[in-house]
Parts: sequence; C-alpha cells; structure tokens
Amino acid sequence: MKNGIYIVATPIGNLKDISSRAVETLEQADVIACEDTRVTKKLLSLLNINLKKTFISLHDHNEDEQLLKVIELVKEGKSVAQVSDAGCPLISDPGYKLIRHCKEEGIYYCTIPGPCALICALQLSGLPTNSFMFSGFVPNKDKARFDAFNKVKNIDTTLIFYETANRIVKTLHVVAEVFGSREISVAREITKIYEECVNGTAEELISHFTENEPKGEMVLMIAPPIEQETSLKEVEQALQQELAKSSLKTAVKTIVATYGLNKNDVYSLALRLKEK
Ligand code: SAM
Repeated sequence: MKNGIYIVATPIGNLKDISSRAVETLEQADVIACEDTRVTKKLLSLLNINLKKTFISLHDHNEDEQLLKVIELVKEGKSVAQVSDAGCPLISDPGYKLIRHCKEEGIYYCTIPGPCALICALQLSGLPTNSFMFSGFVPNKDKARFDAFNKVKNIDTTLIFYETANRIVKTLHVVAEVFGSREISVAREITKIYEECVNGTAEELISHFTENEPKGEMVLMIAPPIEQETSLKEVEQALQQELAKSSLKTAVKTIVATYGLNKNDVYSLALRLKEK
C-alpha cells in the first residue's frame, strides 16, 4: 500500500455499511489516525481487523500538533488511514487541516467514500435535493443560533444542520421564530433500528417531540424559502392582484394563508411591490 493518507468513511449506525475498500484499507494501513482510539478499536474488532498497528489520536483539540506527527510517519513511508468516530471524516469532524498540509507538501492522499449523515438525511427528507447548503452544527448559544438562522433564511436552497437530541426542541422554537411555516424535516437514528424522518412546520415538530421524547443523533433540514412548485413569480403575481383590490395588511394576510409563507417575508415582498 502506497504511503500517504487514506480518508476512510465508516458506518453511522449499521456496521454492514462499511465498504470493502474501507475494510481493505483499514486492514493494510500501518497507522490509524482516529478521534477516539477506543471507538475505532471497537469498530476494527467488530470487522475482525488485526489491531496490531499504530493508533494515533487526532481530534479537534490536538489536530495542530498531531497532524505533524502523522505527516512525519507518511514521510517515513507509512500508510495512514484517517477515520472519525462515525461517518465521513472532515465533515463536522477533524482532518481538513491535515489534508491541507498534504496538499501543500505534495503528499499523496485519497478518499475511501462511505456513509455521510447529511447526505443520508437529505435523501430521507423529501425536500429539494437539487441545491442544498450544509452549515455544520446549530450553534449552542441563543443569540448565535438566532443569528445563524437569520443569516441563511433567504437563501434559495435546502438548509442542513447537525443537531443533538437534547437541544432539538429549543432549536425548533428558534426555527419557528425565524422560518415561520416553512417545511422542516428532522431525520434521526439514520441506518439504525429506529430510523425516522419527520416533516412538518417547526410548531408541528415541537408537538411531535413533546409527545415523543427526542432520542439519538439527528439532522435538521429546512426547505427553501418557497417550495419548488410555487415559484416566487407566482406569489408575486398573486400578491400584486391582492394589493390591487385590498389593503396591504389584508393582501399579506391572504397570501400568507394561501401559500403558507412566513408573514414577515410576504410583508417585505408587498412593500417592495408597492415601491415599484
Ligand atoms: N462526520 C460525520 C458525518 O458527516 O457523517 C458526522 C459527525 S458529527 C460529529 C455527528 C453528528 O452527525 C450528529 O450530532 C448528528 O447530527 C449527525 N449524525 C451522525 N450519525 C447520525 C445518524 N445515524 N442519524 C442522524 N444523524 C447522525
């Protein structure tokens, strides 16, 4: 096996999702760079892979120092498989600085692709897949969370965030405030026994998770501002017709009710149309 870095994706729940290329690489690599050596050793044992190799921990808090050790090993002729606890390395997981270093130093690297939570969630969501934006974890602090959603709310794309079970309800309250009646999807426990993907408005999902205690790992997705089948042009035309026959307030109310859109969004659009 050629010396270099092999970015190896591992299962996000179902062990059978490991690829044969991933198994071969993990078997043959001299070194395994991983977030938590206990987690990765357990995975390798389940796959019947010999543990007699070097394990190096490389996580968010030590990546800067550890990547230099990894690079040294590659220069000495070693092959290094880089894995995270689950799923695709580098995606809301450490590793990108290591790859940047490889690029700069002309060190060989390649990807051994496999399960990625955000892609699996998008597939399950039934939301538009032609364009999407992944923004990592929803920020933990109240203001940062609100600001993060506000920053992206008008982008015409499906929005994807990683989230945890204990924060989802709090987050959905902010989603309701920022996105109004937009369609939301939450996929959880993907590839596991209790895999589910629920859709609805943020308020509906708050009710769902109040009745069914949120459990497991989850991905939050938000539909584009206006669903694909309802083009902005169509809404503009309908709003213009309403504005011609009624007050701004009534026109906005009618369009919000007809298209299930966010009141503030329709209000801004109505003001823009009036100015024109
Ligand atoms: N790098 C991994 C990937 O992209 O596949 C993700 C690692 S990130 C530290 C962990 C987050 O990914 C979880 O908090 C959750 O949002 C999401 N996730 C991972 N596995 C999942 C699963 N089986 N079902 C739903 N979400 C999952």
